[in-house]
Amino acid sequence: MSQALRIAVVGANGRVGRQLIRVISNSAQCTLAAALVRSGSSLVGSDAGELAGIGRLGVPLQTDLAAVIEQIDVVIDFTQPAATLQHLALCQQHRKKMVIGTTGLTAEQQQQLQQAAKQIALVYAANFSIGVTVMLGLLKQAAASLAKRCDIEIIEAHHRHKVDAPSGTALAMGNAIAQVMQQPLADLAIYQRQGHTGERVAGSIGFATVRAGDIVGEHTALFADIGERLEISHKATDRIIFAQGAVTAANWLHHQVAGLYNMQDVLSIKA
Ligand code: NAD
Repeated sequence: MSQALRIAVVGANGRVGRQLIRVISNSAQCTLAAALVRSGSSLVGSDAGELAGIGRLGVPLQTDLAAVIEQIDVVIDFTQPAATLQHLALCQQHRKKMVIGTTGLTAEQQQQLQQAAKQIALVYAANFSIGVTVMLGLLKQAAASLAKRCDIEIIEAHHRHKVDAPSGTALAMGNAIAQVMQQPLADLAIYQRQGHTGERVAGSIGFATVRAGDIVGEHTALFADIGERLEISHKATDRIIFAQGAVTAANWLHHQVAGLYNMQDVLSIKA
């Protein structure tokens, strides 16, 4: 049997990070080789398994990715944009593969992902769930038939702690539709409405954001005509789905050459 894939989880204390520890520890294909928390964290030295509520794993939480990078194969990062970009630079320097789930990256930061992908293999997805990956294909199919005649709105809801809006998934949905409309999303998107807005701009894609309680993640694309509307929705009820998707991506990535991949690539789902 070949050696298990050695994964480092960065952001181990996060909502998704703790699920990643659970999923990796349950997998025969991979092993948790390192678990990293933010520098200065009071959790340094405590056990990653205990943090995740699954009992001792013998993996102490630490803060310095550079100190462990040569002992791992793939980094999984669900943190925040500035931290992710620092970890990306380190992975590039050491030619390590990376799975990135952090959302809220600027266009410039996404550009840096593209640059890094010339040297290392990366999977970046705003949503690692199978359902959303399938939904992105369904949206393209719907947009091909309906975009010219329908008003398109994207509505998303998340928990009160989410710091970026619209969600990365909502933007990925908008981009999938905009691609079919053969225009950049920036030229179509209406992110805010307030006061005397005038009538709806024909051909635009509207976004609406809800932040409340403990909602894990809900997304709907509305294709509304006169007399009927089509709604395509996804509801996440457990963050384990993101962790399962990211670990599937890490195992898949192990066999790939340099490049920037998404979950459709990982799951062999045709766009
Ligand atoms: P969270 O705030 O619970 O966790 C983020 C963790 O990263 C925190 O524990 C924080 O201390 C840690 N962190 C920040 N900087 C760090 C650093 N330099 N080194 C190590 N740890 C560091 O957030 P979350 O809900 O787990 O989400 C994390 C990110 O993933 C967000 O951007 C979120 O939008 C995104 N997300 C993506 C998906 C997906 O499928 N792609 C799903 C859910 C959340």
